[in-house]
Order: sequence, then C-alpha cells, then structure tokens
Amino acid sequence: MTRVTLHGLPVSSGIGIAPAFLFRSLPFQLSGDAPGRADPGNEKALIEQACANIKAELADAEEGAVAGCMTSMLTDHLFHGGVIDRIDAGMTAADAVVQTTNDLIAIYGEAADPVLRNRADYAEAVGRRLFRRLHGLPTPVFKTGSAMILVTDEMSPFEATRLHAGSVAGIVSERGGATSHFAIIAKQRGIPVVSGIQNALQAIVHGECCICDGTNGEVHASPGEAMLVSARTRLAEVIREREALAALSGPRTVTRDGRSIQLWGNIAGPADVQPVLDAGGTGVGMFRTEFIFMGDEAPSEDRQTAVYSDILRRTPGPVIMRTVEAGGDKSIPYLTVDHEENPNLGWQGLRMCLDMEAFFLTQLRAMVRASPEGELWIMFPFVSALWELRRCRELITKAHEEVEARGVRPGNYKVGIMVEVPSAALLADEYLRDFDFCSIGTNDLTQFTLAADRMNPKVARWYDSYHPAVVRLIAMTARAAHKARKPIGMAGDMASDVFFIPVLVGLGFDFLSATAPRIGAVKKTILSLDSRRAQELAGTVLTMHDTEEIRTLLKKKHEELSA
Ligand code: PEP
Ligand code: MG
Repeated sequence: MTRVTLHGLPVSSGIGIAPAFLFRSLPFQLSGDAPGRADPGNEKALIEQACANIKAELADAEEGAVAGCMTSMLTDHLFHGGVIDRIDAGMTAADAVVQTTNDLIAIYGEAADPVLRNRADYAEAVGRRLFRRLHGLPTPVFKTGSAMILVTDEMSPFEATRLHAGSVAGIVSERGGATSHFAIIAKQRGIPVVSGIQNALQAIVHGECCICDGTNGEVHASPGEAMLVSARTRLAEVIREREALAALSGPRTVTRDGRSIQLWGNIAGPADVQPVLDAGGTGVGMFRTEFIFMGDEAPSEDRQTAVYSDILRRTPGPVIMRTVEAGGDKSIPYLTVDHEENPNLGWQGLRMCLDMEAFFLTQLRAMVRASPEGELWIMFPFVSALWELRRCRELITKAHEEVEARGVRPGNYKVGIMVEVPSAALLADEYLRDFDFCSIGTNDLTQFTLAADRMNPKVARWYDSYHPAVVRLIAMTARAAHKARKPIGMAGDMASDVFFIPVLVGLGFDFLSATAPRIGAVKKTILSLDSRRAQELAGTVLTMHDTEEIRTLLKKKHEELSA
C-alpha cells in the first residue's frame, strides 16, 4: 500500500480516520432479459449461497433488532418463496430478487399497521444486499464503534439514507456535488465527505487506513505516522467542540439583548427528527419530502400520510414540509426527465408538480390529512411566477375540500413559499400577499443569481453565497417579509454558516433551519450576539461590492465574537 494524497471538493466538513471500504454502485433494476434462458437449478444454488453469505454477515452486525428482521426476511415465505417461484418461472436469481423486493415494498408499504409497513424497509434492505452479492459486490455491515471510510463512485439516495456517523467515519466519492442528495444526508448526519476524486476506487486499496478531511477536501491513504497524529489531534478537537456545544442545547436561542430566534433543523425523514431535537433545535425548518419518493414508485397517499403524521408527532414545534423538489440536480428516475439541455433551468420542482396535478394533489391531501398531528407549515419550493402561486392556492383548497369530503377534519396549518429564484426575491412583497411565511433557499438562490451550477466543481469559484448580489437579494426578501408582517426564515446552507449568522440576525430573520450537526454552533453564535450590533454589521455588508471583502469582514467579526 502506497502513501497517497488525493484532492477533491470539500463537501461535508469534519475529519474521519478509518479503514477504507470500497463500494462500487450498482443500479437496483431488472436486467431487461426475457425469462426462460436461465437454468433454475443453477439460479437456486446461487441464491441459496448468497442468502447463506448474508446471514453470516448479518450475524456479525451489531444493529441487533434490524439485523434480526433482515435475517428473518431471508427465510420469509413471501420473500424467499417469492424469489424461488420466480426462478422456477425462468427468471435469473438477480431479476427474481428485484421483482420480489419491489412487489413486497408495494404490498407492505400500503399496510395500515406500522410493524407491517416496516417490513417494506427490511425487504428493500435485504433485496439490495442479495442483489449486490449475486453480482459479486459486497455491502458493508455497519457496526457502531467500528467505523469505515466509504470509498465509492456514486452513492444512491437509498444507500445514503442508511448512513450513520457512528459507523461511517467519512465518504470519498468520485461523483456528487456539495448539494447532491447523498451530500445533503451526510451533512445532516455530520459525516465528512470529499467528492470529485475521479479515480478514488483505483487509487485507494480496500482495508487500508484513510484520513477523510472534509474541511480541506483532502484524502490521505496509508498516511504516515506524523500525518496520523495530527489528524487524531484535530479529530479530538472536533469531538471536544461537539461536546461543548451539546451543553448549549437547553437554553432558548436569544441574543444577548433578548431577541429570540427560532432555531430549527433540516430533515430528510422521521429518523432525522431526534438528532435535531438533541442538538437543541425546537422544530423542523425544512423536511425535504422528495427523499421519501426515492424508491421505484411514488409512495401512496396513505403511506405519505403515515410518514408526515409520524414526523409531526415526533416534533414539539413547527414542521415545515416542503412539497417535492425533484428534477435539476435531484433526479428521481420515475418522475424526472433525463437529458434536458439545461436541467437546472428545466422542468423541475414546483413546475413538475403543477404539470402532474394528480401526483401533487396526492401529496397535498396527505399533508392536510396529517395536519391534526402537530404544527404543520406547508411550503412551496422553486416559485418563479405569480400564476404558479395562484394555482398552488387553488390546489391546496381543492386538497383540503377533498379531505373534508371524506369525513376527515383537517387541523390548522400555514402555507408559505420558498424564495430560491431571484424573481421571487425581487417580487417577494407581491408573492407573500396570500401566503403566511417565507423561507430562503440560498443553495438555489446562489446558483440562479450567479448563473453557476451548484453541482459543477468547475464553476465552484463562481458559486459563492457571500456575493453581494446574493446578500442583497436576501436583504430585499427580508424587508418584504417584514413589510408584509410575515415570518421570514432560511433553510439553505447559509443558515448553517456561523460567519453569516450575524447578518441574518441583523436583517431580522425570525427562524433559521440548520443541519443538526451545525445547530449547536449556530446557537452559540446567536447567544453571543447583540442584535443592534448585528443590524449595523448587516448594514455595512450591504454597502460592500466585493465578495472577498464581505467574507473577510464576517470572519473577523466571528473571531471577535468567539474571543
Ligand atoms: C436551497 O436551494 O437552498 C434549498 C434549501 O433547497 P435544496 O438544497 O434542497 O435545493
Ligand atoms: Mg432548492
């Protein structure tokens, strides 16, 4: 094993040290071959061998209950029996696994009983593991306390949702930008990521020690002793800082002069709620609902209602549910179209939903049905024209009436918009007239204001949220919201950026939604601020013309606050 340093994009900050696990991606799909060519005897031998291997792997896992449920799926008459029946009908073992898994996800996913619904997840986890094994590719068995650095070409959203900081110390990826699906999950869970390393799977050897430095965008394979000592020291500092911030989770988020700011967290599903609460968040500032649409087909209305209700019940404060934002950089195979000339400016987000009314109404009805379970705020993303908003209002009313017509009494809920396209920032006062709140998505607002693709490492230099044009659009939106007396918040990455928090406080933001691992640091910054000073600082920043000048000033102010 040779000592090597690889340079990539710093996608999720932090540092991880662990042995490398090489994980080549494999799309979970039918081969497209007509049944009848495979020899059932052979295929049955292959599947039994794969089942035996997986049983042995899972016995080694520490995820006790989950591993137990997955193991029992291997002998379940519907799962195992279904696979064997399909092999007898002429399918290959791999195709039989895909077909059986998809059927069981559809059947269990519809069940009213949550225990049965969970079986959809176990069937999917086991099915995908078997499928990889049949193609000679291993899947890591996650064990708390024995972490690994995952080295991959590309991580699917399904795999990403199973990542946990206790078992994955870092991710090195060949593809995927800072705001790709897996990067969003990794940031939410505090897993360091370096992406854009084109030959990672060739350059790194399975099992060798790796340092994944997600802050500086460097990966060191088989590092020397001095490098290891310095990485361990930095890791210990990160852990110490995390523990110190955890102690802040109790008190309210108020500035030194008593201005209160609601500090919430971004989530991708029910399992992400508790980490937000543990970090001191009091609500969910953005649930990216598209994450529950990542399977092979859209979840039914009942399934969606169950997930939304679950999240509302788990959260003591408000939950902002954003309607599906897919397309552009967030592809969902059965929903979005491939090969658009310019996908980021294409048929995505709200545009797609408005064109697929039945699909959109299903999601809105599910949210309305879940509304009695907590404090629901429904949010429309990617707004770019007034007519869209009128239509959204009509569709919400329609969904509400359809729910009532079934004899269900909806609870109260707010309806708001997301400002992530410059036209919405410029016209926020008009757009807000018929809506209850607004939240800024700086990831998209930056890319559309500066014409710099957020996924393209080649234009990373142009994609910069400290650009004065972005900052002024943020300020303009905040002013419009204040004038309309509607709450204004932020859910993009800038809401997790401690350098930028004083500006947001100075501009009078009411709520901020950060990733769970950043909530403590954001809170610490707010507690140390004086809101009048922050207002002066925001005023100064708004007079500046140069991105670097803004960054330098904000870094300096942050150092003064932390001193
Ligand atoms: C944003 O654009 O800032 C945002 C929060 O949405 P997403 O990152 O999911 O596009
Ligand atoms: Mg967005």
